[in-house]
Amino acid sequence: MLAAPELQRHAPRLLRLWEQACEAGPQELEDLLLAFDADGASHANARALPQGLGERNLRLLALRERLLGPQLALLADCPHCASPVEFSLDCRALLHSLNDAKTPSEASEEQVLELDGYHLRFRRPVAEDLQACASALTQAQPPALGPALDGAQFARLLLQRCILDCEPPNEAARLAPLPEPLCQALAERLEQLDPAAHIRLQLHCPDCAQDWSAPLAPAPLLWQELRGQAEQLLSEIGQLARAFGWSEEQVLSLSPRRRQAYLQLCEEASP
Ligand SMILES: [Zn+2]
Repeated sequence: MLAAPELQRHAPRLLRLWEQACEAGPQELEDLLLAFDADGASHANARALPQGLGERNLRLLALRERLLGPQLALLADCPHCASPVEFSLDCRALLHSLNDAKTPSEASEEQVLELDGYHLRFRRPVAEDLQACASALTQAQPPALGPALDGAQFARLLLQRCILDCEPPNEAARLAPLPEPLCQALAERLEQLDPAAHIRLQLHCPDCAQDWSAPLAPAPLLWQELRGQAEQLLSEIGQLARAFGWSEEQVLSLSPRRRQAYLQLCEEASP
């Protein structure tokens, strides 16, 4: 039986999501989850979905809370002693803290950064930028030929896409790559402008007493849970179909309570 009553109401949509998301890349998966949240239309127009990275994360966390409740049990490996550390996360509390820190500026709003004689005009990154950077790097180095995407290369490419205009201090600087302190300052400004874009959790290891911070990506996390729920549902449908000769549609038309009662009968009848 599905763990979450709220998810029971969306059982047919959950199976459609499962079918589509199993084949999807990371960005498409995030779009599918946001569309599931938006209006239930699994083919919702991707352009109508929020594009700001922070807003997408906030929506996904809110969806997680709505469908499966606020408490999340997670596991991370301590980077100092490699011990597995179990911890729980309260989605609602995290959403509140992120909403408090949320910036009112629009993703497309133009920003300015001045440092060491450079004058930069830039904007915040959006989902489309992540997709474009991932495609550019994959084309430059197909996964079969090289290692996974280089994080530093990806970050630099993303910064470049967000720069609308750059006035260097002199002609020589015009031909040189952007200095590292400027890239660093730009990355920090982007983080301040959209704190929910990159969620980090402060963790503590009970074994070696060290602290560290770990990234939290709401989309893959939510998908992992929904995938488990969808596969559980498929198994229940299979069980009832075998026992009573019903179709998937007929099983899904039963109320969760009746479905549970018939599953109980199947279990009692099995030797
Ligand atoms: Zn440790």
